[in-house]
Amino acid sequence: MTVTIALFTRDLRVHDNPMLRAAVREGAAVVPLFVLDNRIIEREPVSPNRIRFLLTALSELDDELHALGGRLIVRRGDILDEVDRVVTRTHAESVHIAADVSWYSRVRERRLRERLAHRDCLLHTHDGSLTVATPGDPAPATGRGHFAVFTPYFRRWMGTPVRRPLAPPPRFVMPPIRGLALPRPDELCAEPGSPQMSAGGETSGRKLMRQWLSGPIRRYDSTSDHLAADATSHLSPYLHFGCVSATELVHRADTSTPGGHAFVRQLAWRDFHHQLLADRPEAGWTDYRRGPVGWREDPDAAEAWRSGRTGYPVIDAAMRQLVTEGWMPGRARLIVAAFLTKTLRIDWRIGAAHFQRWLVDGDVANNQLNWQWAAGTGTDTRPNRVLNPLRQAERHDPDGEYVRRWLPELADLSGASAHTPWRSGVPHSVYPAPIVEVKGM
Ligand SMILES: Cc1cc2nc3c(=O)[nH]c(=O)nc-3n(C[C@H](O)[C@H](O)[C@H](O)COP(=O)(O)OP(=O)(O)OC[C@H]3O[C@@H](n4cnc5c(N)ncnc54)[C@H](O)[C@@H]3O)c2cc1C
Repeated sequence: MTVTIALFTRDLRVHDNPMLRAAVREGAAVVPLFVLDNRIIEREPVSPNRIRFLLTALSELDDELHALGGRLIVRRGDILDEVDRVVTRTHAESVHIAADVSWYSRVRERRLRERLAHRDCLLHTHDGSLTVATPGDPAPATGRGHFAVFTPYFRRWMGTPVRRPLAPPPRFVMPPIRGLALPRPDELCAEPGSPQMSAGGETSGRKLMRQWLSGPIRRYDSTSDHLAADATSHLSPYLHFGCVSATELVHRADTSTPGGHAFVRQLAWRDFHHQLLADRPEAGWTDYRRGPVGWREDPDAAEAWRSGRTGYPVIDAAMRQLVTEGWMPGRARLIVAAFLTKTLRIDWRIGAAHFQRWLVDGDVANNQLNWQWAAGTGTDTRPNRVLNPLRQAERHDPDGEYVRRWLPELADLSGASAHTPWRSGVPHSVYPAPIVEVKGM
């Protein structure tokens, strides 16, 4: 009996999963396996929010696999050792895994291949699981390994055929094999998570996708930047953990509407960052290009930024939302990142690390490369651009509603006056004075 292993990583779904389909097609029996990899779980900074989301996603994946006659085998430890043990125990002939782009995932893939070769077991990697386009396709005509500017990438991306989403595999059988019960989040991480974080997996992610596509997506082009409207999809954690397929979203979104087109464009940004990281994995921690400003050491300002005490309500509201929900709207991410790097001139790595600590969708490609974009060390074609927090606040929170939602101490300030509490004489004991001056104060 041919046994195959479907090794899940951040493709935690049964719908449109090329890796799972291939494992089921090849094997007379299949082991759906997930390894709680100590190298990821114990890595600094730990992320209690992502650990919590991961455990919920694994539980929902297990439910989805039940409907196919299987169940998820969970192991914990060194991923190479654990996969090796399951291969030995089940005499598996092959392991299937989704291709990924980060430095760590590529080292993992190479080492896994070497280790499995000693057992006469093949490792098959599958493209097109995590992103819509495969990194390297489309490829720039210049012969470079990646596109460095989004607009030409997007043009080519739109013209590249997208494979059809795959149905879940047929029912399958499993060889006898034991796994662990899913641990509780506090067994994996003692640090506190966000009190109002929402967690889910494939089942909840598909429900959210259906709701999003059935109506709100149509207004995405005109409302996505309104901070108080909360009118974006909230699909990012589901995309990060692969509970929802980006390819399926592109197929199901109606790109003939401005909203659908604008939404799919954001998915292309996701692919853009992945193709860049695939070619330049060191861009996860080093400057992609030389930036316009030198960094300042200012631990007090960095701490004021982290704790939402900068004296600029739009910044502080967003930073408090991050800690409370483990999430922040895209426009707010841009405003706070530009403020830290361009206004306070603090190194983007300090901001990116704080985001990685809290974001439930925290992602090497999207987080680090968006930070670099905001800092002017990344792919922004206008690296000197500065986002004035007051102008941004007036434009994207014109009634001050977002700010009052997250800063109860400013609840009595009406309309846009919530953005400039110093003009209304709010005592500094209630709300701090701005830590830096900006134009138009
Ligand atoms: C400084 C900074 C850090 C960020 N860190 C992350 C991160 O760690 N993980 C992450 O997934 N996104 C990150 N983003 C991108 C973006 O802000 C979030 O993906 C988005 O806000 C998530 O909310 P949503 O799912 O409602 O997005 P929607 O607006 O509904 O967009 C749909 C999807 O498109 C993708 N997307 C949207 N905007 C971008 C973008 N600028 N770059 C890449 N993909 C995008 C996401 O997968 C998102 O879920 C960051 C942006 C900035 C400016």
